[in-house]
Amino acid sequence: MKWKDLTNLHQIEEYFSLTEKERQYLSKPSSQNLPVRLNSYWASLCNDQPKDPLRLQAIPRSYENIHKDYESSDPLDDKEYSPVRRAVHRYTDRLLLLVTHQCALYCRHCFRRHFTGGPNEEISMEELDDALLYIQDHPEIHELILSGGDSLLLSLSKWKYIEQWSRNLNRPLIIRCGTRLPITAPYKLQKELLEVMQRCKNLWMVIQVNHPRELSPQAKQCIQEIRSRGINILNQSVLLKNINDDPEILKQLSYALLEQGIKPYYIFQGDLASGTSHFRVNLSRTYTIMKELRVLVSGMAMPQFAVDLPGGGKIPLMEDRIVEQDNRHFIFKNLQGNDYPYPLEEEIHE
Ligand code: SF4
Repeated sequence: MKWKDLTNLHQIEEYFSLTEKERQYLSKPSSQNLPVRLNSYWASLCNDQPKDPLRLQAIPRSYENIHKDYESSDPLDDKEYSPVRRAVHRYTDRLLLLVTHQCALYCRHCFRRHFTGGPNEEISMEELDDALLYIQDHPEIHELILSGGDSLLLSLSKWKYIEQWSRNLNRPLIIRCGTRLPITAPYKLQKELLEVMQRCKNLWMVIQVNHPRELSPQAKQCIQEIRSRGINILNQSVLLKNINDDPEILKQLSYALLEQGIKPYYIFQGDLASGTSHFRVNLSRTYTIMKELRVLVSGMAMPQFAVDLPGGGKIPLMEDRIVEQDNRHFIFKNLQGNDYPYPLEEEIHE
């Protein structure tokens, strides 16, 4: 089957009966916002219900034009921690490298929307050399995280370059690649890329599956091909309103992942990215979902719930991290012992 990209109203309409809110957005997409891209493969997994959990992740609605004053286009402060272009050195032992702007599907909840879908396709050789030199000069870095965008859309030649460079590095380095491609467009995974990845020492893959229905027969086949190359896979989900904010769905997701040999690793509270408030779950409810899920699944099937605090980094959602709580926000103590707020939001009722 030949799948095709869907990037505008006309193409999307061939597969979906659009709601008013979807049509409103698609007939006048904001150039300031994340571009629109899904594909006919993803459409084949959706049913034609407006609240289908896969459809909600892929087709924009006019809610994306709502911007809250506490939201940001860069909610994780990537720019603040960037020692060389496209690199983010927020945590001592890890360097995040944003290798491409492209994704096979632009998730409407994407938190890196200031970068994702941007006009420059991928990292240049000069930028890549600068970042790799920075790692060589910083022995405290044990992990290189390739992200973007979707790291599996980085060109084969640059993947080969990174693989060879890591082999010649005089210390062990773990490479973690962030991707959603095996889930959103498994048909795009190239055999040659798998061969390069197989040659990388210490390569881990982190994918994002948010709902059990995303694990289609094609996605499972793709995952098994990756695993047959000896590559370990972790899953990071985002807790999304009307998509997976239900302990029973999350239980199904965790066991479906484990059946594929994927460890449910994290579930993130939605970041405060501009135009994504309609996806965020009120933090009090997140705690309730977390507690209910813990009763339903084994320790192995239980992901770590976490929140990225604007300016404060990632912290596990645990009661002892809450310093103060009122009806407007939670104040958390981050891992460095500093206090940061996270708003308790009124949810948008659709
Ligand atoms: S795959 Fe990741 S980077 Fe790409 S749009 Fe989705 S959430 Fe954003």
